[in-house]
Amino acid sequence: MNVNLRIPGPTPCPEDVLKACGRQMINHRGPEFADMIAKSTAKLQKLCSTEHDFYIMTASGTGVMEAAIVNTLSPGDKVLNVSVGVFGDRFGQIAEAYGAKITSLKVEWGKGADPQEVAAALKADPDFKAVLITHNETSTGVTNKLGDIAKAIRQVRPDILILVDAISSLGAVPLPIDEWDLDVVVTGSQKGWMVPPALGFVVFGPRAWQAYEKATMPRFYFDVGKARDYLARGQTPWTPAVSVFFGLEPALEKLEAEGMENVFARHHRVAEVARKGVKSLGLKMFSDESVASDTISAVKVPEGVDGVKLVKTMREEHGVVLAGGQTTLAGKIFRIGHLGWVNESEVQAVIDELRAALPKLGYQVPSSAAAS
Ligand SMILES: *Cc1c(COP(=O)(O)O)cnc(C)c1O
Repeated sequence: MNVNLRIPGPTPCPEDVLKACGRQMINHRGPEFADMIAKSTAKLQKLCSTEHDFYIMTASGTGVMEAAIVNTLSPGDKVLNVSVGVFGDRFGQIAEAYGAKITSLKVEWGKGADPQEVAAALKADPDFKAVLITHNETSTGVTNKLGDIAKAIRQVRPDILILVDAISSLGAVPLPIDEWDLDVVVTGSQKGWMVPPALGFVVFGPRAWQAYEKATMPRFYFDVGKARDYLARGQTPWTPAVSVFFGLEPALEKLEAEGMENVFARHHRVAEVARKGVKSLGLKMFSDESVASDTISAVKVPEGVDGVKLVKTMREEHGVVLAGGQTTLAGKIFRIGHLGWVNESEVQAVIDELRAALPKLGYQVPSSAAAS
């Protein structure tokens, strides 16, 4: 049975990406690697339409979240953490681990952050150095209205740092970094980029560089200053995940050939298939409709159904690998990942298999909703 891997990362990789990852090693301080990192970095910058500096680091997404913090902040700095879910909470925890004083603006899970509430929190304390925010909250299937939020932030604090976790959104949904005046934006190779895990991307703007000069949190592995100096010579400070760099090349070529506008449109179409399909099964989305993510759909487990068993049945008997709920959402929701190398029929197949699996778990698909 062909496995339909529908989790929010690692996402399936195209054959040519996998093949490229299997190439023989090269000297990571030689001319071939220098050529590759220069080209891939420039391509990524172009695909993300940003003029900001761009660094490829060897780390999972959490590593580059840490990079965003340790390169811009100092122990004791007051930071506003806008959290709409598990990954939002994690961003705050990292900052706290390095000595930042966190104020959390916690939003009810399933909803997006309200720009005016963020602005009000900033007005309440003029000493905040930075705002931490998640663009796409993978645990709840919510995409924050980041453009509106960033605008509201800038009206109150034109110079505050805005650090963004865009790990499950950049490269899959529109995120005009420069236009929205975001200072640090991070993502990971295994999400929308169709590449295996191991590379983290850090977009680092001019305001972030000013902060870097004064930031005193301890930093070593993730020091962007070191990344900048080495990139100038076509290298990384430490041994990079060379195999994944190989895989990145064909993945970026694919995105370039498709065109980012088309990539974004495809993600929207695929997400619509998921959302309409969920409705056709008589199920409900966990996220508010107005902020439903185009890269991941969180669905409420219907009353009387064992959510953990549903995910297990889908995996064992239907060849579909879904994600369950995290922390307090375990068993209460399941999540369909639809980012990266994905098309409509793969997500329609998830809906079709759910239709077949749900009755085994004691849920009858309503007949009025039976025909999708
Ligand atoms: C996946 C993800 C992370 C964590 O990335 P890792 O690669 O697992 O460290 C953080 N934030 C968001 C929004 C994510 O989707």
